[in-house]
Amino acid sequence: MTLQLRAGGATDVGRVRNVNQDSFLLLPERGLYAVADGMGGHQGGEVASRIAVDALRATFADGDPDALAESIEEANLRIHEQGAADPDLRGMGTTMVAVAALPDDVDADTPGTLLVANVGDSRAYLFRDGDLTQLTEDHSMVADLVREGRITEAEAEHHPQRNIVTRVLGVYDQVDVDLWPVDALQGDRLLLCSDGLFNEVGADQIAAVLRRLAEPQEAAEELVRRANEGGGHDNITVVVIDVVDDGGQAEAASSALAGSRSGLESGPDLAGFSGRDQRVAAEADAPTGRAARKAAKRSTRKERPSLRSRFSWRVAAFLLLLFGVIGGAFATIQWYGTSTYYLGVEDGKVVIFQGRPDGVLWIDPKVVRRTGIDVEDVPTRYRLVKGEEQEQESRAKADRVVANIERDIAASTTTTSTTTSTTSTTLTPTTAVTP
Ligand code: MG
Repeated sequence: MTLQLRAGGATDVGRVRNVNQDSFLLLPERGLYAVADGMGGHQGGEVASRIAVDALRATFADGDPDALAESIEEANLRIHEQGAADPDLRGMGTTMVAVAALPDDVDADTPGTLLVANVGDSRAYLFRDGDLTQLTEDHSMVADLVREGRITEAEAEHHPQRNIVTRVLGVYDQVDVDLWPVDALQGDRLLLCSDGLFNEVGADQIAAVLRRLAEPQEAAEELVRRANEGGGHDNITVVVIDVVDDGGQAEAASSALAGSRSGLESGPDLAGFSGRDQRVAAEADAPTGRAARKAAKRSTRKERPSLRSRFSWRVAAFLLLLFGVIGGAFATIQWYGTSTYYLGVEDGKVVIFQGRPDGVLWIDPKVVRRTGIDVEDVPTRYRLVKGEEQEQESRAKADRVVANIERDIAASTTTTSTTTSTTSTTLTPTTAVTP
């Protein structure tokens, strides 16, 4: 199935700053979207965020699951090198939050996967079924304090040092990129934004706008407007990406969406959807070999744990199999260790043991019958001596041997001239079962 997206973006300098250091990228034909929030004086912030989105545009190879992280790592290096080369730009950096459509090469029952990447404190949110969820984790000092339980989320929102980021592009020559795969569902909206939005507009207000405005461009512009209304203390950048259905169904979905919202918002521009469609045809027909290689490559990137969720069913199947094998082996050993009986001696009396004379692993033989027969009275052919025990394949057979012993003893005490012929049970060694 082909994943199709429609997106809109808006940015504004805000009401306090003189320069807009944010940048954003809408590259629908390659399924790539990004927001970058630059920092650093002497135009450094502007330059850093611009280099970041330009590098992403230039180096992102769509269709490769690893391309997004690699492209952001390349952006980091370019900013770092330029910052090192130009004294005016020294120390410049930028956040980056990006989303890329991945080819649908793993799950056939979902439209496809969106891969979200983050460095810094810009954010990606998922708006699904009317609920807004933050996908990314901020790399900021206050976020660390919240994670450590030292301040609450409410305290973080007004913390004086909430602008301090702990990870950005450009400061070092290497950077860790966090990744989150999202199985895209029709009707999902992704929101990428700089902190100029969420520091001014509450999550419930953001959700209300996303609920109300079906057109992504309109929603993005409205969110920027709200942030300015809230104070506009920082640059504001918003990108809204909608997951729409494929082919002709896209328009139907848009109409349905518009229709369902018509009571809340008149949508004069909705008829113009098709003209502004930014459809993304991810590589739906990737060859199987290539897809398999990609899946394997993805699963080996352990440093990006969020990718693992894609493969959780495989892990579950593997664990199930592993537990099955372990359980089977356990049951086999248990059966092998308890399936036979033999006659032995305890406190000078004949007893029947269940188990193997030498035990098996953790399974020791246990007494299941005490006969009261003195071992001194038992004919030697019954071989009750330790190490010579004869295993019986059932309890009934062991009982029969006891009966034979009792009969022999009785015969020898009542008749001295006649030797009683005793039939001893055929003793067949039990075959060991291969676990
Ligand atoms: Mg900012």
